Amino acid sequence: MTAPTAATGSRPLVLRNVTVVDTRDGALAPGLDVVIADGIIAEITTTDPDAATAPAAADAAVVDGSGRYLIPGFLDMHAHPLNDKHPAGGLELMLANGITGFRQMAGSPQLLRERDAGTLPLTDDSPAVLALPGALLTPLNAGSIPAAVAAVRDQAAQGADFIKIALITPDVFFPAVAEARKLGIPVAGHLPAGIDVSRASRAGIRAIEHLGPGLTIIAGCSTDEVSLAEAIVALPALRLPSVRLPFMDRILMRVLRRVVINPVNRSTPAEIEILQQAVDTFSEERAAELAEQFVTDGTWQVPTLIRLRTQYLCDSAEFSDDPDLRYMAESTTKTWQGAAAAFTRKFPPPSRATFRAAYDVLLRMTKIFSDGGAPMLAGSDAVGAAWEVPGPSLHREFDELARAGVPALRILQMTTRDPAEFLGTGSTMGTVDIGKNADLVLLDANPVDAAAALHQVSAVIRAGRHYSTADLATLKDQVRSAHPAT
Ligand SMILES: [Zn+2]
Repeated sequence: MTAPTAATGSRPLVLRNVTVVDTRDGALAPGLDVVIADGIIAEITTTDPDAATAPAAADAAVVDGSGRYLIPGFLDMHAHPLNDKHPAGGLELMLANGITGFRQMAGSPQLLRERDAGTLPLTDDSPAVLALPGALLTPLNAGSIPAAVAAVRDQAAQGADFIKIALITPDVFFPAVAEARKLGIPVAGHLPAGIDVSRASRAGIRAIEHLGPGLTIIAGCSTDEVSLAEAIVALPALRLPSVRLPFMDRILMRVLRRVVINPVNRSTPAEIEILQQAVDTFSEERAAELAEQFVTDGTWQVPTLIRLRTQYLCDSAEFSDDPDLRYMAESTTKTWQGAAAAFTRKFPPPSRATFRAAYDVLLRMTKIFSDGGAPMLAGSDAVGAAWEVPGPSLHREFDELARAGVPALRILQMTTRDPAEFLGTGSTMGTVDIGKNADLVLLDANPVDAAAALHQVSAVIRAGRHYSTADLATLKDQVRSAHPAT
């Protein structure tokens, strides 16, 4: 699409006189030349102030990094760009916003085959696909214990990196997690309604997404935990047939696609009442205990606060007035406006007040989990969710984490070093060190001082290729102009 200005292939790149940020402890190392060759950080040396431009190799491209901070590229650890049939615009928008890798949160046998064949719909300007699951485990393919166990085995055999769970019932949840553990494949996803969070953590779910979502964790942090769990179990369950017919998969997926735009829009008065009770009885001590449990079990949290905010505050003008909407197709924006209008129509002011209060509790919970040292990752949940523009939405996640009170260094770690630890890829990513992948971001401000500095992306290096500020602007313009003018 674009022609990045510097190193491609064998031509080395020198980032001259940068300040390297150590994502382990926030230490700053100024005055360094970082040499990149063949997509790898080849050398890091002290800048020689007497050598005006001296590159390490005669043919190297040199980028002046004076006054700039070098960090690993951002990793969006909860994203869905490959759900889209034509994901290119979203992927390029992610890269243009400093995202060099993502965990794809919904897969299929076809996507797994395409990955094997090297035919995933990616371009040179795409972030890396860090992990890809099989098809979502739902009541359709995992409606009974034998079906769930078989689905886990099938997906492991298909080469899935993890099992993504959504909407399955507690009786199926634990056998599915147990089977996955036996096969050594991690499980990530949504906790079933009414489940005991501590038990799910002990059972070995590797990552819990969206702080539950819904009532699960918030009810688990209540002083009335037991009675709330009983009330949740008594709610009418989502009834889906467990018979497996090919066309029903497609129908369910179509229904799900509509639901995921804003799942909160389906809330019933009974659910909102339980949510308000959970808010009223929220216990910081219980949340701190849960954080301790997550540390003990190695259970990761991917809060996706921006996803929760766009759901609970769906009709807020901050979303409908978002200037980044210009990067989205008009049909998408219309769908999101429709979801916001439905939200306003359906929920009277007291319900909306409950949602706002719930979101504030989720911010407090996030801070408690962070303070307690629970492992956490940054993720946006773009594409498919209302008001989530791929790329900018991860930056909004940084802002929400900061709003919750998570320290700036921790936010930086949640999108760089910690994902590498989560994925077991610390030897190739997560810090700026010799031998690691040259997937990097240059910032104009110090990200250890304030998370807002993460927005000041002035250059991106992806697989050793340098995108200047101008290249990034061009990339964004191309995405924008791919959509008909509104
Ligand atoms: Zn998701």
